[in-house]
Amino acid sequence: MPRCPLVAGNWKMNGLLASLAEVAAMGTAYDAALKSKVELIICPPTTLIGPALEAATQGGLGLGAQDCHVAANGAHTGDISAEMLKDLGASYVIVGHSERRADHGETDEIVQAKAAAALRAGLKPIICVGETRAEREAGQALAVVGRQIEGSLPADAPGTIVVAYEPVWAIGTGLTPTPADVAEMHEFVRERVEARLGGGKSEAVRILYGGSVKPANARELMSVPNVDGALVGGASLKAIDFMAIAEAYR
Ligand code: PEP
Repeated sequence: MPRCPLVAGNWKMNGLLASLAEVAAMGTAYDAALKSKVELIICPPTTLIGPALEAATQGGLGLGAQDCHVAANGAHTGDISAEMLKDLGASYVIVGHSERRADHGETDEIVQAKAAAALRAGLKPIICVGETRAEREAGQALAVVGRQIEGSLPADAPGTIVVAYEPVWAIGTGLTPTPADVAEMHEFVRERVEARLGGGKSEAVRILYGGSVKPANARELMSVPNVDGALVGGASLKAIDFMAIAEAYR
């Protein structure tokens, strides 16, 4: 079974109700031909998942969240569980984004527990991994990402999980790795995912590239072997840019 590419927009802490016009515009541009080539989802802030549901559903886009708690419910003031996100209409949740690993001290162990929580609730986790600039310069990129995969993926996860390779130094900087570096890393990621999950499951796992994906570089990056789509930050906020990236798959 060929993997259906996935382009996911991470709005981070951006967006108010007025921003839902962008979701509606994305849906208008997401025609039947494009739907047959690529799956599109938007991961807005949690506040917008409920309000975005109607426009997203009408346009054929899915919705994801940007984080979840490990527990289903309980005394965790301010936190949101995977079950609550599912209840709102989300079908995906990003876990282990480098901004959460850095800002909230999330370890591989926590990320793995969050991915397991997502699966428990019936959400597909998008599990993020990626090296820092210092780690790449020290020749440690593969070792770091290999460790993150081993630590962050639940060993019994199904092939429906998504892994996003996002070099930290490429996020929001305008910098991207060379296609050769992306190819090397994505081949390695698939090998390590197989080592972790076994049973040929890695063949179904979609491995996204994330980090400064733009309309101008989407075609080149998305045509690299083992790149099954993109996790897009800044360029996902405007329908015109996000849909130009999706067009790489038409
Ligand atoms: C991200 O934050 O997941 C990301 C890829 O950001 P950007 O596209 O802005 O680099």
